[in-house]
Amino acid sequence: MNSQHLFFYDIAEGYRAGELERIERLRSEHSSKNIKEICALLSDALDCAFVSDVEDLIVYNRQLDTIQSIVQLLYETRPKNSCRWSIPLLKESYKNLDIQLDSREILTRKGLHPSDYAIIINLSQYIPKIGCTKNIPQVDLVTIPHNADFDISSIAIVGHEVGHVLYETNKKGIIDDRISEFITSEFYKKHNVDKSKQIPIDVYVEIAEFAKNYISHICEHFCDLVAAHIFGLAFDIALLRAFLVIDNPTQPGKEHPAPSYRMKLAYKRLVAAMDTNGKNNGTNGTKLHSAFIEMVSSVANKCDSFSDFSPNDELCYKAANFIFEGFKIRYRLAIP
Ligand SMILES: [Zn+2]
Repeated sequence: MNSQHLFFYDIAEGYRAGELERIERLRSEHSSKNIKEICALLSDALDCAFVSDVEDLIVYNRQLDTIQSIVQLLYETRPKNSCRWSIPLLKESYKNLDIQLDSREILTRKGLHPSDYAIIINLSQYIPKIGCTKNIPQVDLVTIPHNADFDISSIAIVGHEVGHVLYETNKKGIIDDRISEFITSEFYKKHNVDKSKQIPIDVYVEIAEFAKNYISHICEHFCDLVAAHIFGLAFDIALLRAFLVIDNPTQPGKEHPAPSYRMKLAYKRLVAAMDTNGKNNGTNGTKLHSAFIEMVSSVANKCDSFSDFSPNDELCYKAANFIFEGFKIRYRLAIP
């Protein structure tokens, strides 16, 4: 390397040294074997031997950003920031869905605000240059809403995040199979396709377009159904409370269906369950039952003002239901 090359390498080396120190501190503070392994992978990923000009330095800086974000997230799983009390509940939810825990570890961090809840499935896969390294430590990082420490009912929202783990771990199997079975049959019906003849190309195109734009919406509905399965009414109440504060609830996102649609579905599940429970335990029509109905109605009053949803929204929800039914049959999940 000439002196100009060395100049860029030295800058990268400086960044590297600082980050290595943080990683070392993280490693020494955590007793988890998985985190120690992730620290070793992160240290390897900091290798800057390739940096010899400004372009390399830009690439290196980008990798460094990702590494720093992962290190920061892991810092937030230390006891004082995490919500470790929620781990037994999360483990129970995984077990309930038959998600193997032998080789996975669940970590938690406290969210920054009440609507900060999320999951990063298999965090190690985001380490730069990890490529096809086999046997990377399987760690799922769950963000617990900030207020769950003092408002326990809000914890049920994490059922949705556990749904994402079920979805991810079964994607290349039952999920993909059921989605394609459902979508093709719906579009064939819509276009009166005779399956014994050649399928018109425009039907294929329409199916592909739908899948491209709506696959993540199907996933979101599926995760809500999983959460409602694990946590029952507690999830639907938590969802309604979390979504009521959303500014523009009727606006769908690229990845998410309109919050208003998910609220309406949660509301319907709540009312149906309350009716059934009331009939079963004799509380239907009692003061307690009507007080509960009143409470839920007032919380969900907003739902009535939401307009109807598009046929594609309805189709996504139906598809999610179809996948979930498949799980119930295959894994004999107890019907809540
Ligand atoms: Zn989601």
